Amino acid sequence: MIDTGAQRGPELAYLVAVDTDNEENIWSIEDSLSELGALARTAGAQVVGTMVQRLAHPDALTYVGKGRAQELSDLEKTLGFELVIFDDELTPVQQKTLENMLNARVVDRTALILDIFAQHARTREGRLQVELAQLEYRLPRLLGRGTELSRQAGGSRGTAAGAGGAIGVRGPGETKLEIDRRRIRGRISELREDIEEVRLQRLIHRQQRVAQAIPIVAVVGYTNAGKSTLFNTLTSADVLAENKLFATLDPVTRHLILPGNQEVLLTDTVGFIQKLPTRLIAAFRATLEEVIEADILLEVVDISHENAIEQSETVNDVLKELHAADKPRVTALNKIDLVGDPDDIDSSLYPNAVAVSALRGTGLEALGEMIGTVLAASMRSVQVVIPFNKGELVELFHRRGHVEREEHQADGTLLTGRIPRSLNGYYAPYSTNQV
Ligand code: GDP
Ligand code: MG
Repeated sequence: MIDTGAQRGPELAYLVAVDTDNEENIWSIEDSLSELGALARTAGAQVVGTMVQRLAHPDALTYVGKGRAQELSDLEKTLGFELVIFDDELTPVQQKTLENMLNARVVDRTALILDIFAQHARTREGRLQVELAQLEYRLPRLLGRGTELSRQAGGSRGTAAGAGGAIGVRGPGETKLEIDRRRIRGRISELREDIEEVRLQRLIHRQQRVAQAIPIVAVVGYTNAGKSTLFNTLTSADVLAENKLFATLDPVTRHLILPGNQEVLLTDTVGFIQKLPTRLIAAFRATLEEVIEADILLEVVDISHENAIEQSETVNDVLKELHAADKPRVTALNKIDLVGDPDDIDSSLYPNAVAVSALRGTGLEALGEMIGTVLAASMRSVQVVIPFNKGELVELFHRRGHVEREEHQADGTLLTGRIPRSLNGYYAPYSTNQV
């Protein structure tokens, strides 16, 4: 969407937001806009100005209201920006109206995030998901835009001109539009199938991991909180960490040995962000399945950020949507090196919090211990009788769980103790239901 314009320098962008005074929104309009600015810079644009309009609701046609939209069009002439970025997702009608009023390109928050996603997707899965999300975003916005679309829809232009339309009903443009739509829908179902295939692959990998019975710790948190840096420092992996929003799109998983010598799998994830449309979350379902399947969550909070609490609440909202908010959680209060007086931090706001600096490597020992403690507490008590021909399950219980009692009975080995939740599926068939 945004051409980063390597030779021409950054594109000039103007930001526009509507302040609806919605009590439910924990984010102030200033914070939301400053984040939009960071997103714009990440996408390669240079912000030349911002406009905020207070309205009960965004205007159905122009988002900011007709007068302000006209003002934007005048500003365009003096400031010469090529891009107007809106802080919410525009409806197709708003988008069309604004495009007609302005010379600059009209981009909304969703399109901007999708653009950044597209720049950063690295694995096949990530790229498939981005393309799907982009096409689903574009489909309802096709109306009345004939020519430039077939390029976006996959390349073959102009083949449809005038063909196939019902006489007197469809003009060539509409026919072409219909074909664009059909092509996009076709590509969407193709992508869905491919993604499903990748998802199955991932499932198989995960089952292999579960078979090794290594507990999974998913690193979650607001974008730019320092998840990848912490992941790297903890596992000494070389995962790209950069001061950009959404540098990580694809989950990466590495082994980590905790202070008590317990082995876990740590998985880095895409960052969460406010006003991320649910549809986008759905698009990254496969990626976020790592979160859904994890034994515990390691939430990274940038405690030096003035919106640390809002960011953490946003993360929690997304976790709720994934039905993962109730999982045991450890909080890494990161970037402690940037906090003047660490005593100012109210760590009681965050579950099982440990102050760390992922960059300097401080607090990591304590963090590892906390993960171990929370993991142990998250294990389930079970009592099972394992048939003698399933000796490997007895061995697995010893290796990964805590055995409290073991007895040979006529029908198998009775085991009482605690196992990681990820192993439930293995032992459920042999449960005696007595614990
Ligand atoms: P992610 O989006 O959550 O994965 O964040 P990254 O790991 O990519 O880090 C975002 C930025 O924060 C990078 O510029 C990091 O160098 C910086 N960062 C991460 N951890 C720390 C820290 O403990 N202290 C400081 N000062 N900067 C950090
Ligand atoms: Mg990252």
